[in-house]
Parts: sequence; structure tokens; C-alpha cells
Amino acid sequence: MITFDSYEIWFVTGSQHLYGPKTLDQVAENSQKIAAQLNQAKDIPVKVVFKPVVKTPEEIRALCKEANNAPACIGLITWMHTFSPAKMWIAGLNVLAKPFCHLHTQFGREIPWSQIDMDFMNLNQSAHGDREFGFIGSRMRLNRKVVVGHWQDDDVQQELGTWARAAAAWADSQDVKVARFGDNMRDVAVTEGNKVSAQMQFGYSVYGYGVGDLVAVVEQATEGDVDALAARYVEEYQVSPELHQTRSYSTLREAARLELGMRAFLEAGNFKAFTTTFEDLNGINQLPGLACQRLMMDGYGFGAEGDWKTAALVRAMKVMGAGLPGGTSFMEDYTYHMPAGGTAQVLGAHMLEVCPSIASDKPSLQVHPLSIGGKADPARLLFNTKTGPALNASLIDLGNRFRLIVNPVEVVPIESKLPNLPVAQALWVPQPNLKIAAAAWIYAGGAHHTGFSQAVSVEMLQDFADMAEIECLLIDNKTEIAEFKKEIRSNHVYYSLARGL
Ligand code: MN
Repeated sequence: MITFDSYEIWFVTGSQHLYGPKTLDQVAENSQKIAAQLNQAKDIPVKVVFKPVVKTPEEIRALCKEANNAPACIGLITWMHTFSPAKMWIAGLNVLAKPFCHLHTQFGREIPWSQIDMDFMNLNQSAHGDREFGFIGSRMRLNRKVVVGHWQDDDVQQELGTWARAAAAWADSQDVKVARFGDNMRDVAVTEGNKVSAQMQFGYSVYGYGVGDLVAVVEQATEGDVDALAARYVEEYQVSPELHQTRSYSTLREAARLELGMRAFLEAGNFKAFTTTFEDLNGINQLPGLACQRLMMDGYGFGAEGDWKTAALVRAMKVMGAGLPGGTSFMEDYTYHMPAGGTAQVLGAHMLEVCPSIASDKPSLQVHPLSIGGKADPARLLFNTKTGPALNASLIDLGNRFRLIVNPVEVVPIESKLPNLPVAQALWVPQPNLKIAAAAWIYAGGAHHTGFSQAVSVEMLQDFADMAEIECLLIDNKTEIAEFKKEIRSNHVYYSLARGL
């Protein structure tokens, strides 16, 4: 279960001593009111904490250092109620290691035309004070989010909430440990990547284990625990009434043993994501399907075939979408439906490992042979995916940097029965259509593995990419191939120059 209970966002108001104590008292009072209301906002899932108004370079630097050292603080919302000369902010912003969101708002909605005087003007200077603060952010080349509008407006609170979710995922990623049971699938290129670079860029620690290390823990599961978990499977999912009498029940018990072992391994090592590979199952009797599905359901990131980048991305997306309607899963673009004259669609699935958080119906638990891997028939959950908007995201390693690719899709109903396809699946139409989306995705180098989500928004991923300081390419209804290719080319130049050597 992922919650934001241990996280805080600090509401930081900038000012200066020029206006005297009376004005500053008013600034503090107004800021407290805003922070209190943002804290209550239904669209902001993280606690918002008021911080005393900062008025000097020393106060600003001390506050930024305090934020860095506060484990609960996942970012700052900054706002200039009055003018706050921005050279005062340089020392603080230079050391600030947490993301910040610049809220460009004003305490009062409307100008009191009949009463407005110079005192009012001096108190309510966001319109130019925030521009001064914005300049120093741009001058220092700082990635930050700018949100504009009245603080009581829904759209403003929603944008702050979106940013807060990205900040939570960013805070979470700083200590994401990914356990890899086996290496990448041999010869596969896109699932590879530089683990040192990933740790420097995102905070991910990627740990490799021999499958024997996992087997040793799996073997510690007691028969009583195995029986109890197998019985829970039968309760939680649709199961054929004959399952108990068939050989499949022993398979199900082995799947339960695997889940108990994997869960114990991940919990003991404090892991938040993991990978498996069907090419390395030494000592395991079946490819873990059900276990991966259930662990994903509980918030673990997952990548198949050793794909640790996607595992970490799925974890980040699970955090961003926590508590929102809709689920998040590991996914793969599997097969196309391209009817003559009709709308081209993508059938997404995997061998087994799709997260039931995206299911439209109660999953059916079944045991079937797997056509690759040469192991026993694995247990897995089958279901259809909820229709409606969703997106796919892919994180790739370009050799010298990372790129995130995001494509909103519309999940559509599957009109036919699929009696011979024993996996969970989703059918979707990508934005703007398959012809442009797939071409853009391929030009961008996007992987076949993705994080698929009905809960995460494009903006959350864009905010997250900004925090990580990586490129984010969006393929949506506005995408046009010639422009997209230009964006890729200019981004290559930008990121080479921005990063330097
Ligand atoms: Mn795959």
C-alpha cells in the first residue's frame, strides 16, 4: 500500500524588510490562510505545511538547507506575496536539493477599486514580485513548475496536486531498490541501460541476484502458509470449481510458495521493484506470473526479462497514481489489429505479468502451459482492462542520457471472446492514431515494455521528468511527425550542451 502520510510540502512565502512589520504580519497571516486551505484541498494528496515568511538571504538559505535535511519534505511551493529581491534567493536556490513549484497567485481575487491605495499595492505585489523570482529561476537554469491562477481555483489546486504526486514519486525514487532475479534477456537491447547513470539521475539502486538466492527463500515457506495463501487465491478470484481436484491445484500451491518467497525476499531487502526473466529460472518450477501480478497490485514496480528501468518506472507511476481511480501496470505492446478501413488498435499484454489493478472485472485464476521457457504450466490472473483514457510511458537509455516517452491512449472494449488467449490484456487506440503514434514512438526509440496507467496523467510524468532533469517526449493528438523529428534533433543538441561533459 502506497500512502503519502509521511510526506510534506512546505509553503514558502518570500518578502523583504522594506515594508515594515505591519505589512509583514499581514503577509504572514495571508500566507498561513493559503497554506491551510491548500492543506485541506482534496486534489492535493500531500500535507502542506506553512513556513515562516523569508525576508533575508540568510533566512532563505537556512530554509533551503532545512528542507534538504528534512526527510518528510518532498518539495517547496514558493510564492512572492510582495517583492522579494531575487539575488536574496541565489544562495538558497544554489543549495536546494528538493523540487520546487512556483505558485504565481495573489491573496485577493479582485482589485477593490473604490479602496485601492498604495498600501494595498505594496502588499499585493505578486504580479511583479513573482516575475523577479521567476527571472532568477531561469537565470540559474533551474527546473521548476510554474502554476498560475487564484489559489482557491480548482485548476490551480489540481496542478499543485499533480506536481505533489510527481514530487512524491521523486522522493520515493531516491531510495528505490530494484531486485533483479536473473539478468536481462540475452541479446535484447532496449532493456539494457547504465545502472550507475540511473542511480546518479534517479536515485535507483539496482541489485542483481542469482535465482538460487531467491530459491533459498522460497524453500523456507511453510506448508501451512502455502495452503493458506492458495486458499486465499481461491477466495479472491474466479476459480473453476474443479481446480481442487486437478493437477493444477498443486501448481497453484507452488505459485503460492513462490509468492511467499518473493514477498519475503523483497520485504527483507526493502525493495520497491523487481525483475524476473524466463531465461533464468534455475530451481524454480514455473515462471512467476501470479506472484508478479499480486506484488504489482501491492505497489511493487515490475519489469519482465530483466527490465529494471521499466520496473523502476512502474514503481514511480504507482506512487504518482496512488489513491486515484484506475490502476498502473507493467505492459507490452503485443499485437496489432489493423482492419481495412477501420481504426488500428494495439493489443497489449504480456506472457503473464499484467497488474490486476487495471482490471474491469474480477480476475479469473487459471493454470495454462507457457509456450516459451520450458517450465511447468504457470498460474496467472486473466481479465480485461477498464475502458477509457490511459497512457503508456517508456524510459530508455540513449547511452549518454535517459529519455521518457509518453503516449496517451484510449482503451476500447474487446468485442470478441478470446477463448484461446490465457493472459490478461488491454486493447487501445493510441493518440493521435496508430500510424503517427507508432512512427513517433519508433523514431523516439521507445521500448516495447511500458508503464501503463489509468491513474497517472501526462503532466505528472512531465513534472517527474523535470525533477529528474531528463527529456520527456509527448506523443499526443497534437503530434505531427515532421515536427516530432525536429524536436528529437533539437533535444539531442540541447541535452548535449546542457549536460556538457
Ligand atoms: Mn516482454
